[in-house]
Amino acid sequence: MAAHAAAANGASVVLLEKHAAIGLPVCCAEGITTFGLERVVEPKSEWIANVIEGATIVGPDSRSVTVYHPKAGYILDREIFDNGLAEMAADVGVDIIKSAPVVGLEKRETIQAVIVDINGARIRVEGRIFIAADGVESRVAHMAGIDTTVSLQNIDSACQYLVDNIKIDRELITIFIGNEIAPGGYAWVFPKSAERANVGVSICPARSGGQNARGYLDKFMARQFPESRILKTMVGGVPKFNRSMPLTVGNLMVVGDAARLVDSLTGAGISNALLSGKIAGEVAAGYIRGEADLPEYPRRFMQLKSRELNAYSMCGSIFVRADDGDFCRILEALDSFFPERKVREVNVPDIILRLVFRNPDLLKMARHLIAR
Ligand SMILES: Cc1cc2nc3c(=O)[nH]c(=O)nc-3n(C[C@H](O)[C@H](O)[C@H](O)COP(=O)(O)OP(=O)(O)OC[C@H]3O[C@@H](n4cnc5c(N)ncnc54)[C@H](O)[C@@H]3O)c2cc1C
Repeated sequence: MAAHAAAANGASVVLLEKHAAIGLPVCCAEGITTFGLERVVEPKSEWIANVIEGATIVGPDSRSVTVYHPKAGYILDREIFDNGLAEMAADVGVDIIKSAPVVGLEKRETIQAVIVDINGARIRVEGRIFIAADGVESRVAHMAGIDTTVSLQNIDSACQYLVDNIKIDRELITIFIGNEIAPGGYAWVFPKSAERANVGVSICPARSGGQNARGYLDKFMARQFPESRILKTMVGGVPKFNRSMPLTVGNLMVVGDAARLVDSLTGAGISNALLSGKIAGEVAAGYIRGEADLPEYPRRFMQLKSRELNAYSMCGSIFVRADDGDFCRILEALDSFFPERKVREVNVPDIILRLVFRNPDLLKMARHLIAR
């Protein structure tokens, strides 16, 4: 997205991808809200595996709440989607080089060039502006001097299977919460059809007593989908939002997971990666034209997202400390909060505020958990 936005606004752009194929390996449950996708790019039908119309949350005692929202979101086909974005970038002149991992930086006061390993040869690629969009590993930002380390509390560990031979409602995503299912995290079922889904578990490693996410997922599968067939397995780390991580240093901008722009409650990062990439690309092109400075990128991004990211962060830090009794209380509050089981618009910070004001017990619980 960053490369497309920069080139579409007149910059000359090279995109370096370490893998031989764009979009592979997929390590994602592929869910995105309609707003999160459409505010950045008009979706093409081939990017979409399934349209989502609502969500069910299942508590530790198996009670559940389902809320419907017309055309709430999509389950993407990430491989096709990522390739679609790359094609859009190529169409506006981006030079895409695959099997080209960035392995070093050449710095004076600012970055002069990145060093790329192409078939064992070290190649310099010069530039005036660099955008690090290299995901959770965030190696480029680290090489540029940004502290990218994440503590065990600030990264979730996730394991996911793509499965078929199941029977589910294809319009609903389902989230399972509870410390036996996923300590500090949750399990998800994101349908790609009525018989096929991404089913995964994310846990907070600091809360899991040494068990890994795959162990929790296997237990969940045995209980929930004993007849299912596993087609693909993926594991990965999901960083939490870190408001003190700089989004620019010198002539480098950092976007997406590399910048920890992830919703700390759900682990969703696609829409923030798209939006931060788009803004950074536009600012890069503006800088080249002499019309923008780089701090415009964090300014514009945070104007749109800081309230939401901070609200999710606060909820995430409460959620990770909650016990099963707390989860049941949260579910009861949600149950009475959505009596008609329908919403038209989801503004998460507002929902949280209204939910807490209507349920003073939740406020007490939140205070108690934050202090714990
Ligand atoms: C199991 C799991 C499920 C998830 N489910 C969801 C979900 O349903 N919805 C959601 O919104 N988010 C989800 N996420 C998070 C989401 O996948 C990320 O937030 C999102 O992919 C971030 O996009 P990105 O472009 O920043 O990084 P990435 O998608 O990781 O892309 C980084 C790219 O940089 C390349 N790269 C890395 N290092 C280098 C290098 N040195 N040189 C050159 N290229 C390099 C990589 O090959 C890759 O192509 C999930 C994460 C996990 C682990």
